[in-house]
Amino acid sequence: TWSVHKFGGTCVGTSQRIKNVADIIIKDDSERKLVVVSAMSKVTDMMYDLINKAQSRDENYVAALDVVLEKHTQTAHDLLDGDHLASFLSQLHQDINNLKAMLRAIYIAGHATESFTDFVVGHGELWSAQMLSLVIRKNGVDCKWMDTREVLIVNPTSSNQVDPDYSLSQQGLEKWYSLNPAKVIIATGFIASTPQNIPTTLKRDGSDFSAAIMGALFRARQVTIWTDVDGVFSADPRKVSEAVILKTLSYQEAWEMSYFGANVLHPRTIIPVMRYGIPIIIRNIFNLSAPGTKICHPSVIEDEDKQDLQNFVKGFATIDNLALVNVEGTGMAGVPGTASAIFGAVKDVGANVIMISQASSEHSVCFAVPEKEVKAVAEALQSRFRQALDAGRLSQVAVVPNCSILAAVGQKMASTPGVSATLFNALAKASINVRAIAQGCSEYNITVVIKREDCIKALRAVHSRFYLSRTT
Ligand code: ASP
Repeated sequence: TWSVHKFGGTCVGTSQRIKNVADIIIKDDSERKLVVVSAMSKVTDMMYDLINKAQSRDENYVAALDVVLEKHTQTAHDLLDGDHLASFLSQLHQDINNLKAMLRAIYIAGHATESFTDFVVGHGELWSAQMLSLVIRKNGVDCKWMDTREVLIVNPTSSNQVDPDYSLSQQGLEKWYSLNPAKVIIATGFIASTPQNIPTTLKRDGSDFSAAIMGALFRARQVTIWTDVDGVFSADPRKVSEAVILKTLSYQEAWEMSYFGANVLHPRTIIPVMRYGIPIIIRNIFNLSAPGTKICHPSVIEDEDKQDLQNFVKGFATIDNLALVNVEGTGMAGVPGTASAIFGAVKDVGANVIMISQASSEHSVCFAVPEKEVKAVAEALQSRFRQALDAGRLSQVAVVPNCSILAAVGQKMASTPGVSATLFNALAKASINVRAIAQGCSEYNITVVIKREDCIKALRAVHSRFYLSRTT
């Protein structure tokens, strides 16, 4: 069996940290490992900055590239020696020379195409993966590094994201592994190729996604995401001092938590592993004694952790800087197509709808959008419904600014009557005015819209209500 591990930029941010990562991998030789690494921290930003400088015809891109070279040269000297050092440095210099030529071309053209950009920015991962694999080999472990552009094939989506092509990637992996069998593979996060073999990326912070896709391709036993926090908290610990680390979350719960702004995982990261029921563990590399948070299928949670299962509500998350838009009028009831007209207009201005609520009386539809998009949304609706507004079929398109969303997330809410009563009771006791409510049919979350200034107070009130009741 294989296990997949992912180490983010801070985990490989210095030579000492790269050594720590190597130690973790070397110490446990119980199974085969595929290790996905990010670029050293800040390096991806530095690479994007090179592109920006060159595009804006700022000569300083040359000096900035030297800083990148220097950083990796220094790290390599700290970590490697002999042939390993020589071979890494020779590859590094070759890459830097190629980058210099490409950046020069971008400088002359005053523009970087997307594939040029993706080619350039992915180098941080190429270098960190090579260095880590050489450190591990130095310790006598059978280890190879993988340029994931040779394996991982993705297609762009209309929303500027990418979808993995699993069957092409599986073929690529089988071919790669037949040529490079090894017990430990260090793979570059973030980068991939298109089906036409053009370098691309999984977009910013894409390495977790890389690890999840690799987990699926390898049918791994589990995927461990190493980071710098102990796991997923029941609420943002900067806002709620009593927040606790959750031992387990179901895939859906993790999904909802991250959608509603908890710093867990990007929702897309869960999809590849969920297909095969592969658990994801979030662990702190700076605190190895903490067990972390396990994200998995609910049936596994039931077996392993009865206590956590008792929590009807697992966590709370918030999104700030929202505005509520309320479209109201008697002319909306029973008129098919109203919702489609409303959200069509919203889509046309490119706004992102965070939540929607419509009462069954159908006299009003309200929804939340980011504050910075609300002006355009309101204008689009005014003009789309001009006639209906003039005729009085719609009474208003109203905007309520300065809102926040508070979401309570928990799989168990579905089968537990009274959870929402408890939630609203806690909010009422704290004198929080609720402006809108939504609950998905899946019942994994209840979402309320409140005034932004009430957000922290509300979060503390509901958190202590649910987490105190657990211990009593
Ligand atoms: N290095 C990439 C970034 O900073 C990908 C990642 O680390 O997840 O966006």
